[in-house]
Formats: sequence, structure tokens, C-alpha cells
Amino acid sequence: MYVEAKRGKSRELWTFHGGLHLPENKTISLTGPVRQADLPTRLVLPLHQHIGTPAQSLVKVGQRVLKGEKIADSTAPVTAPLHAPTSGTVIEIGNHPIPHPSGLPGLCIVIEPDGRDEWGELPQPIDDYRSADAATLRSRIREAGIVGMGGATFPSAVKLNPGKPIKTLIINGAECEPYITCDDRLMQDEPERVMEGVRILQHILQSEECLIAIEDNKSEAILAMHNLVRDDEPIEVIRIPTIYPSGGEKQLIRILTGREVPSSGLPAQLGVICHNVATAAAIADAVLEGKPLISRLVTLTGEGIREPGNFKALIGTLAGDLIEQAGGYQNHPEQLILGGPMMGFDLSSDTIPITKGANCLLCPTLEELPRPEPAQACIRCGRCADVCPAHLLPQQLYWYSRAKDLEKTQDYNLFDCIECGCCSHVCPSHIPLVQYYRYAKHESWAQEQERRESEHAKQRHDDRIARLERLEAARKARLRKKKEALDKKPPATKKPKPGAPDKESKQAAIEAAMKRAAEKKAKQQAQPKNIENLTPAQQAKIDAVEQRRKNAKETAATSETEQQP
Ligand code: SF4
Ligand code: SF4
Repeated sequence: MYVEAKRGKSRELWTFHGGLHLPENKTISLTGPVRQADLPTRLVLPLHQHIGTPAQSLVKVGQRVLKGEKIADSTAPVTAPLHAPTSGTVIEIGNHPIPHPSGLPGLCIVIEPDGRDEWGELPQPIDDYRSADAATLRSRIREAGIVGMGGATFPSAVKLNPGKPIKTLIINGAECEPYITCDDRLMQDEPERVMEGVRILQHILQSEECLIAIEDNKSEAILAMHNLVRDDEPIEVIRIPTIYPSGGEKQLIRILTGREVPSSGLPAQLGVICHNVATAAAIADAVLEGKPLISRLVTLTGEGIREPGNFKALIGTLAGDLIEQAGGYQNHPEQLILGGPMMGFDLSSDTIPITKGANCLLCPTLEELPRPEPAQACIRCGRCADVCPAHLLPQQLYWYSRAKDLEKTQDYNLFDCIECGCCSHVCPSHIPLVQYYRYAKHESWAQEQERRESEHAKQRHDDRIARLERLEAARKARLRKKKEALDKKPPATKKPKPGAPDKESKQAAIEAAMKRAAEKKAKQQAQPKNIENLTPAQQAKIDAVEQRRKNAKETAATSETEQQP
């Protein structure tokens, strides 16, 4: 298919598999201009309103904050800081209902505005952004807390650092989901802001071409953007066919380039990056005015709302407060959906806050959007596969999600599912297929998280063991070295004391002493008794003693004989 693009050139477009032509229901919220929402009495700011690591609070309860002041951040690589949308006092940091399909509460900073709307100190504008390097501009975008505002909420600064050359920058102005009109309104009302953001993005990525894709049901937006493109810039506004979900990233890349992003792959692998038009406008604010992301356009629509339209609301404004400014409820609506009828999810109450990715509050009546009929068994008709724009087998995914066989769901590329809802929409058995896929994705993430934590704990244990082994080996090596050094040392020789006899004379002295002792002993043996030259009296005494000794011996011998039996 060929379409007329900028400067009358024709550009070839491709189609993607599946998709649906849906009733648009857009005029209901497009009739009036954008309304500035009132300053609410309370702003509830979830710390986790982006993909990645949640931000951590930088403020305390009771602290006064100024408009634009950073109130939460994180050092994680994929995260986004949060800023005070107006001046006021932090009155609470605690759990509140947040916009999430799980319906679970999340940690929020609650600010009570003081009504002065007083700005804090902002960074200097970078007017001449063409002279600034990409890193400086990315840092400004990061510090401004900008995330994908089409609903993806991926931190924009991270996406702008793909680590590969980018040939094609795609600006997504398709806004393909029924009812939602905030991007259309933005392009019609503030095309200059969007176009400045597009030029900044193009400068950062240095892409060869920049394609602004808008569905052909938004003629005024196409014209407004087209009129701003200069002849000397590589930017084109492309009119694409209206078919849902043409605004899906992979589907848009397919339409514009004819190329398929591989399963589990990223557009950057093809040299392509996509950003939403509202993200581009927020980037222009951050770079050219130093303003962080603290507000956004939100579509309030559906026949359950008295005065539908688009509102510029501060992030953190409660849905109920905004609906009140749109005239309140009418016709007894039974649902409040965040997002559109296809990809949005039911809110349990209107006390949830508007976040950076919240593009629409849809409040349809039952006639307008009937409740789904009770689900019946799958009849294997295959219609879901026919409409799936991601080339998946939705019925297989359904079976395995239902059986909680998460491994199998991944074999069938569960994570390629963009949750567009086309399969559920056509299913004759009214099976809420997307709910099963969301459940399976959530469980898979939880399991993955558990696996990572357990691996992390094991790694810590292994590291400790390795460290202890290293220390022991080092200790042994030290001992071995010491022993070797001792073995190599010659035996110590004692220095003789001055005046002391040397070894030889000592030995001679020993020998002489031994000789003297031997002579003495021999002499004693040679003279056993001194019995020479005795007087007769002395001899008589000796004889008497000898006689007594003899008698005593004989007496002892006799008594021994008598005692024997
Ligand atoms: S459309 Fe529904 S009934 Fe038909 S195969 Fe898919 S899940 Fe089964
Ligand atoms: S919701 Fe997922 S499975 Fe269903 S049609 Fe969309 S991409 Fe395919």
C-alpha cells in the first residue's frame, strides 16, 4: 500500500497480521478544547508508576515541598524520579489504592496543596539543544522523570540510550484504541511543543529519518503536525490506516518499515526506536523549560460521564475529583476503566490517582459496553489466532495459563502478547483470555523474581565460602614460606665469650679430669683395707669383731633351718 507523505512523496506501507476494525467512539471526547483541571485538595503520588525499580521517598511527613521539587528517586539503572506537582505539605507516606490490574495498594506520597502553586528552583533551560551532547540531554530527561506516556511507562532516558545506531525514529501518534483522544487533542492544540520534542529526540539519536505516524481518522492532527515540518529536516508525517492495534510498537514498526521485531527482541535490534507524541512534548518541556513531568492530558469519556472531554490534570489527582470536574456521573454507569475498552482494566473505585501513564478514564453505561457474557468452553474455532497481531496461538496460551503450566506458556511466547484484547473480543465462548495471560505473566515474573533472589542468596553463600578458602590458603602459604625460610638459614654458631676456653682446651680439660678420676678409683681398689702395721691390741679388737660377725651368721642360719616345715 502507498500513501502520500510529506512533500508529496509516496511511501510504501505494510500491513500486520490480524487486528480489528472497531467502532471508534472518539467524537464524544473531542468536541471541546482541553480543560485545565482544578488544583485538588489532595494529591496521591505512587512511588512506582513506571517500569523498573520503584522510586524511594526523599521527603518526610510534615515537610513542605515546592512545585517541581524532586520528592522520590532511586539509584537503580531503570527507574524514574517523582516530583511534587504543586507546592504544599507532605501529609502521609503510606499505602493507597493505585492503578494496577491486581487492585493491590502501593506506597504513595500524599501532598496537601497550599494553593500557592509555588515553583521550586528549576534547572536552566537548554535553549540551544543542538549544541548539547546526547548524554547531557538524556540526563535532563532522566531528572525530569519522563516515562513513556502512551501507557508503557518505560523510562525514556533509558530507551534513548540503545547502544546501537538508530536509523529510524518513529513518533507514535496512532492512538488506535477506541474512545481515547488525548494524543489527538495534544497534536491539534500544541503541535509546536510536540514537534520541538521530536527534534530533540532526533538530535539525541541522530537517526537518518524520523516518521511521525498518525491514523488516518485524525486529519486535523495530521495537518497540524505536517505544517510544522521544515523542508531541510528528515522528518515525515505518515498517515497510516485506522486499524486496531496499529499503535502497538511492533505493529507500527511493521506498518512503516515492513520489518518484524523478533520474538522477545527489541526494536533497537532493527535500528528503530519508538516514542509517543505526549512523551515528545514532555521532553520539550524538560529540555527547553527545565520542567519535570508533573501533569498530563487525560481523556474522560463514556456515556456515564456528564461532560466528557480532555483535561490537563496534575499527576496524583484522584479519578473521582476529575470526574466531578467533568460534571460527575450520569446514567448509572457500572464500570470505571483506566485506559480504553480493549487494553484498559476495571478500577475498583474512583479513589485511584492519575499517574504518568494514565491516558483515559472510561465510564461506559451497560448499554454502551455490556458486561461480558459467562465464559463457556473453548470450541477451538481458531478465531483468536486469526486476529492476533502478535502471531500467537491464543487458545494454546489460554490452555496452559489455565493449567498454570507457565513453562509451556513461555514456549508459546506469552511475553510477546501485547494484551491488545483482540482475541477476547472475537471469542464466541466469551473467554476472558487476556485476564488469563495477565495472570500467567504475573506468576512468571513472581517465579523469576524468586529464582533470582534464591540465586543471589546462593551466590552470596558461595562467595563467603570462597573468601574463607582464600584466607585459609593465604594463611597456609605464609606458614610454608616461613618454614622454608627457616630451613634455608645456616645453624647459628655461638660466639665464645671473651677469655673463655676454646673447644679443644675444654675437651683436654675434660679428658684430664676423667683420667684423674680413673686413677683415684684404681688406687682405691688396690688398697681395699688399711690392715698393715696393726698393734696387737688393734688386731685383737678386729679378731673379736670378726668372731661376733661369724657367730651372728651361724645363729641366723640355724633359726632359718628350724623354721622350715
Ligand atoms: S476464539 Fe475462543 S473458542 Fe475460539 S479457539 Fe479461541 S479461545 Fe477457543
Ligand atoms: S491479547 Fe495477546 S494473544 Fe490476544 S490477540 Fe492480543 S496479542 Fe494476541
